Order: sequence, then structure tokens, then C-alpha cells
Amino acid sequence: MTILKGSCHCGNIQFEVHTGLRDIVKCNCSLCSRKNALMAQAEPEEFVLVSGEDSLGLYQWNTGVARHYFCKNCGIYTHHWRRSKPCFAYNVACIEGVDKDNITEFTQVDGRSFSVTKED
Ligand SMILES: [Zn+2]
Repeated sequence: MTILKGSCHCGNIQFEVHTGLRDIVKCNCSLCSRKNALMAQAEPEEFVLVSGEDSLGLYQWNTGVARHYFCKNCGIYTHHWRRSKPCFAYNVACIEGVDKDNITEFTQVDGRSFSVTKED
């Protein structure tokens, strides 16, 4: 089985993804476009937070259903719990041995249109 290892910049947050890189997306909602993150997805049982629970910051906005996690120490977005589908998405750039700039196949998601509160 593939196990991807991920971490934030300072290393406080460590996670594993027990599946390969899957369903890679970029999203244009007002939050994701600021993060500019390339994200992949994992089912709840495939995403394991190994360490750093104390370092997890939580950001919620809009409907408040999605839970956007980041490291309180280094500020890096690691993963989030999605609103539109009950699963995790995580920051591909946090995964060991993956150069996100070499990933050319991903889906551009029109999250801006799904946001209940439109900012623009
Ligand atoms: Zn950190």
C-alpha cells in the first residue's frame, strides 16, 4: 500500500496518507486562491494525523462546515475537512518527495461559484 508522508514546515504537524495522490485539484474560491495550494484528496480512514494535534490551528468561514487546518507555529496549511464531500483534502506541497511543480494534471475547481458568501 502506498503511504505518503506529509508535514508542515517546522515539522510539528506530521501526517500520513494511506493512498496515492488522488483527485488533485486547484480551487478558485477566495480562500484557496490566496493559499494557491495544489490539493489531493483522501477518505477519512486514509488520512492519519501522526503528530502535532496541539499545533493545529483551525480556520472556518462561510458556512463553517469545512475545517481548514494550519500549523500555529509555521503557518503552513496542511489539510482540511471538506464541505461539499465528507473527506479530507491536503496540501500536495507538504508531501515528502513530491515536487508539486511537476504535477501538470489536476482539475480546476470552481469553488468561487459554490461559496455561499461571495466576496467579489
Ligand atoms: Zn509547522
